[in-house]
Amino acid sequence: MNPRVLLVSNRLPVAATGDAAKPLRTTAGGLGTSLKGVHESGNSVWIGWPGNMELSPEAAENLNEALQEKGFVPVDLTPGDLKDYYDNISNGVLWPLFHYLIHQLPYNAKGWETYRNVNMKFAEATASQYQAGDLIWVHDYHLMLVPGMLREMLPDAQIGFFLHIPFPSSEIFRILPWREELLKGLMGADLIGFHTFTYSRHFSSSLVRILGADPEVDRVSHNGRTVHFGVFPIGIDVHRFVQQAHLPEVKEMSQRIRRQNPEEFLALGVDRLDYTKGIPRRLLAIERFLEKYPDFRGRFRFLQIAVPTRESSPAYNDFRSLVNELVGRINSTHGTMESLPVHLLYRTVDANELSALFLAADIMMVTPLRDGMNLVAKEFVASRVDGNGVLMISEFAGAAAELGESLLVNPYDIEDVADRIHEALRMTDADRRARMSLLAQRVSQMDAGTWARSFISHLASLTEGRQRVSFDTIETIRQSIKAVDSLLFLVDYDGTLTAIRDRPALAQPDAALRELVLRLSNLHRGRFWIVSGRHKHDLETWFPESNVGLVAEHGLWMRVEGNWTQVIEIDVSWKDKLRSIMASFAERTPGSQVEEKTASIAWHYRMADREFGRAQAKELRLHLLESFSNLPVHILNGKMCVEARIQGVHKGVATRRIAEMTKHESVLAAGDDQTDEDFLDLLPNSISIRIGRGHSKAQFRLHDPFELRALLESLASGEQNGE
Ligand code: UDP
Repeated sequence: MNPRVLLVSNRLPVAATGDAAKPLRTTAGGLGTSLKGVHESGNSVWIGWPGNMELSPEAAENLNEALQEKGFVPVDLTPGDLKDYYDNISNGVLWPLFHYLIHQLPYNAKGWETYRNVNMKFAEATASQYQAGDLIWVHDYHLMLVPGMLREMLPDAQIGFFLHIPFPSSEIFRILPWREELLKGLMGADLIGFHTFTYSRHFSSSLVRILGADPEVDRVSHNGRTVHFGVFPIGIDVHRFVQQAHLPEVKEMSQRIRRQNPEEFLALGVDRLDYTKGIPRRLLAIERFLEKYPDFRGRFRFLQIAVPTRESSPAYNDFRSLVNELVGRINSTHGTMESLPVHLLYRTVDANELSALFLAADIMMVTPLRDGMNLVAKEFVASRVDGNGVLMISEFAGAAAELGESLLVNPYDIEDVADRIHEALRMTDADRRARMSLLAQRVSQMDAGTWARSFISHLASLTEGRQRVSFDTIETIRQSIKAVDSLLFLVDYDGTLTAIRDRPALAQPDAALRELVLRLSNLHRGRFWIVSGRHKHDLETWFPESNVGLVAEHGLWMRVEGNWTQVIEIDVSWKDKLRSIMASFAERTPGSQVEEKTASIAWHYRMADREFGRAQAKELRLHLLESFSNLPVHILNGKMCVEARIQGVHKGVATRRIAEMTKHESVLAAGDDQTDEDFLDLLPNSISIRIGRGHSKAQFRLHDPFELRALLESLASGEQNGE
């Protein structure tokens, strides 16, 4: 049996009518169509806003009953919620920014608090429906904080998120004042879906640049969990469009639209009247086409269906005036007594009319400035059951990534679009049909149902989200230590006792950590050692007290009763050559730096451009592996650094010496990276803990330094209380 799915979207695919007899009506919209199949399979609950309606108590009850019967759970939004969350933030900021139209941004956006609160309303409504084993699938830019909120409430849930609009370049995304909060919100998901690889790549760059994460091509580690991301291009209900195109009334209507003039060409645009759709520039291209190719005057008509949208917004009303003005100008200049070249209809069309329009058009002009996908392009292709017609599509529409056989245009290049209209009208019948046949194959490959099923099955296959370390782990460790008489603590510093910071110098211990380390160093049944890769100077500055055991430089130095001793003798004759290679990389990578220690030299790129840094790190590693293949040097891949260290120096060397010296009954060892693996299994009865992700031989795993500190804290206080 498939798991139940909780769908979460801003709008439900139904709206309240206010009519007691028939309280619900189905609403149009891409999202509704795409998820209809999932919901109608009967094993889903859909959470969303049912539309804004002042209802009498009786009508409200009828509405709730009708919603419940159909598996819908309403989220009630107040007019104030809608103004801030929907108008001001979602459509006033996120919509233009994610579509790269930053000149549409308000100078001082208001309403973020409400966006956050409304996201919380959705998260709470979802959590109240959740049963163990359900999959949760959250949709779109209105609800980007919901996955993170749900992760807090339901740590074990499988949560998916799909973004239906573009994810912009990180250079644009970082303009957003709430960039970090939004990304962290998304990080609550187990799987994040985008329409195209480009969006996924931009998202990945934002993770690197804004969160300092280290993503792979399709996943990233966050707070000890793996967040996957991938490409799932949304499709349409192909079958419905094919069926409709075959209806006799549709064919008849299509002929009427073409009028009786076989000489006339018809170009078509169907869009919401949104500034992202590129309608003004499309009109300018048509004007230019008529100027440049006057033979087509009187033989070319452009019909634009402009679907009303967001009419409460002044920006949209101003935009409408601009479009009207352009249409008037073109018609008055290029119209004839018999015909006008541009025909603008400001209204919605019904399903049959839409199919008839698609069938009637010689050219379908889909020229948005940016568009997450653009379903109209796919609907046009599916409707051309006659195998005819030319699709012109903007390279900035997500659909362009799949529809390579169409005429691709840059909507900002008016001259080129004008020429492409001409090219489309002169295309040979064979060329047109060959292109359309290939397009039709592509569109039918991934329909709406396939899209939803593919996302859901991918989400269901990710079981890792459920494997969370919990309070139980800490308790199990406490219990296994309880009976031990003498205990040696060996604990790494960076990434284990403190979180990794951008600048290593900032990772100094806070007062609480220093106090904790001192308490642990004074335990009567234990001895506490910090086992670090850091320079001994750093460690000594932070922990001057001589009873804190310190191991520096990955085991080369140890401080015993206040005195540093070098644990082994080493040959450092290879360092000059290494130093010059590292220095040349530092010069060529602004922001990076070289750090030299007794037995190693490291190149750090934390402060450099993260993407460039990662590429350079790969290059440096290869270079070092080649140059030092015959020398006793280890090339190590650290966290945002590449380090070359003399062989034989590792944390196991010093810790073995400590174990021999102190003869404790058991060891509690904790670390977060590969260099710590050398001391995790020092004694047969060691209790070993890995902090965060990655392959490890440790018996236990804790998410982050905070969890380890909670454990150490409880051990220190338990000891003091005589437990
Ligand atoms: N559409 C509609 N009413 C109309 C004209 C079109 O509902 O009068 C539909 C169209 O068939 C398509 C959707 O609206 O499914 C528009 O989706 P698209 O991805 O092209 O753009 P969006 O409006 O989502 O930005």
